[in-house]
Amino acid sequence: MIAVNGSGRRNGTVADPGPDADPMQELIPMTACLHCGSDFAAAEKNSYNKCLKCGSYIYVCDSLSSELNRDFYDNVYGSNQAYRIDKVKKNIFYFFKSIDKFLRKNDYNEFDAKHRTVLELLNDKTKKVLEVGFGTGDNLISMLEGGSDAYGIDISRANVDRFIEKHPKYSDRVECSTKLGRQVNIVYSSALFEHLDDPWKFLDDVSATVTEGGYIVLDNIPVVSGGNANIPIKSDISFWDGIHKGIYSKKALMDFGEKKGYGLHSYGDFDYFIYRVLSSHKHYGYLMIENIRHPYMSGHKLTEIPAYVKMCHRALKMNSQAKLGFVVFRKNGAPADRPPSAGGRR
Ligand SMILES: [Zn+2]
Repeated sequence: MIAVNGSGRRNGTVADPGPDADPMQELIPMTACLHCGSDFAAAEKNSYNKCLKCGSYIYVCDSLSSELNRDFYDNVYGSNQAYRIDKVKKNIFYFFKSIDKFLRKNDYNEFDAKHRTVLELLNDKTKKVLEVGFGTGDNLISMLEGGSDAYGIDISRANVDRFIEKHPKYSDRVECSTKLGRQVNIVYSSALFEHLDDPWKFLDDVSATVTEGGYIVLDNIPVVSGGNANIPIKSDISFWDGIHKGIYSKKALMDFGEKKGYGLHSYGDFDYFIYRVLSSHKHYGYLMIENIRHPYMSGHKLTEIPAYVKMCHRALKMNSQAKLGFVVFRKNGAPADRPPSAGGRR
């Protein structure tokens, strides 16, 4: 099949780019790194391919991540509602987490200190904030009710309608769109960047919205960890076949900002215990955890208590292939006439 990515460009080696194609924008081969454009010499389909140049992992397949995500949220997400929080598991989880906090105390403290830079920005009431891909709207509503001058956009009509229905007072704050028609000081997104079929296009879109001296925050994104991983990729919960399109290296993330003319404001990553427990489920063959993505549920085909204790215990010693991180870029006077396709992979 010929895939068309989010920007309307076609992936693959298609001879005729079609009448709507932007002649300035080249075709992206489906078997190349979404960050640096390097070709995967022997790309393996339906799996993550590591880019030797930038160290990122890209999921290569014939479907777009946007399609796979839509299928997931339309079909699987609803059926997950049959799972319920298991109070015994919850207690076990927090018991092991307290051990983890003791064992990795420095990592916890260091990350919290770094992540405070994100919270400080979001709490700054003098700044206009746009949340891109606000999803359930939990974060957006807490900013609005906290007195922030906040806006939200989401490509899901259902998300936007649900938000308006729940919070009619703020109906003028949300739009079903990929762009906001006004300037803001901060663009915030959480757990979004790894899902995108065209991360460069996303950065172009949000760049058009951010004022000079403003910020782009990519929060809660998986980042390829350093050399100490001790679990295979196939057990790692961040490697979520196709739904997470790109797991980028720290180097690649920095480069995304730099190529767009942004400076680095702050960065941090952390190997969260919760994700190690989810990966531990995968390791022991409880693969439905990929869709549930919650550490202490009970329900169909999930583990009984003794096995759950074993999983939490194992998670203590795990080092993930991808940590969870954030990066904050600062727009500090990039040349405004930079052509849209010149900053990228490019
Ligand atoms: Zn690359």
